[in-house]
Amino acid sequence: MVYMVGAGPGAEDLITVRGARLLGDADVVIYAGSLVNPGLLKLTKRGCKIYNSASMTLEEVVETVRKAEKEGLITVRLHTGDPSIYGAIREQMDAFDKEEITYEICPGVSSFCGAAAALQMEYTLPEISQSVIITRMEGKTGVPKRESIRAFAAHQATMTIFLSAGLLEKLSRELIAGGYEEDTPAAIVYKATWSDEKVIRCTVKNLAEEGKREGISRMALIIVGQAVAQKDYERSRLYHPEFTTGYRQGEKGKE
Ligand code: SAH
Repeated sequence: MVYMVGAGPGAEDLITVRGARLLGDADVVIYAGSLVNPGLLKLTKRGCKIYNSASMTLEEVVETVRKAEKEGLITVRLHTGDPSIYGAIREQMDAFDKEEITYEICPGVSSFCGAAAALQMEYTLPEISQSVIITRMEGKTGVPKRESIRAFAAHQATMTIFLSAGLLEKLSRELIAGGYEEDTPAAIVYKATWSDEKVIRCTVKNLAEEGKREGISRMALIIVGQAVAQKDYERSRLYHPEFTTGYRQGEKGKE
């Protein structure tokens, strides 16, 4: 059996209880060494075999799992954040299907949630933005044209931009070309929830300048949109005294 486990954004205690239990049960762990906190490996039992997938191909990962399966061992494939986001798990699952290897996914806290916590922000501020766009700049991996930064910018929703910390100049240009005002609030969150986390608040215009000043070119998320400022929002109706919900009688209804 293979468990594809989300390791969370970085801090060792931000893996789920289930993920931690599975790590403790594993005979074999293959972890994404470039992003997963190696401190999590302390949760493995003695004798557990540990592989770093940063230096492996998909074929090598599948071969390692196949061997473990033959011996009836439990494998944990430890992915950063949540496996469903830029985790390259579909190709892995297809390869497991071909080998008739059964697997289960254990979700994790994605880094975009870690970044919101670092910024102490609510992505979905009433009257400011009610949507979060999870996206990336085109790099070695392409992005469908209809999903370009420029195209998404037109929505003025809150954007969380992955895998783009090394492309800040172009990102800034594309955001502005797509319709963001130059002074739209933005933030760079480097290593969210790790002990060396850095939070930089800036604007769409000076993203690259600020990133360069702090020497950031990887392991960062860029958050863009009016919501980053966390002001000028409408109070939510859910907790308003006048508002009746399925769980609470509002003051108006009581009259
Ligand atoms: N599955 C992961 C994302 C993997 S893609 C998740 O759900 O978070 C790798 C990219 O995620 C990095 O380039 C960076 O943009 C972002 N990332 C991962 N961990 C991060 C962290 N702790 N802080 C900021 N960005 C992070």
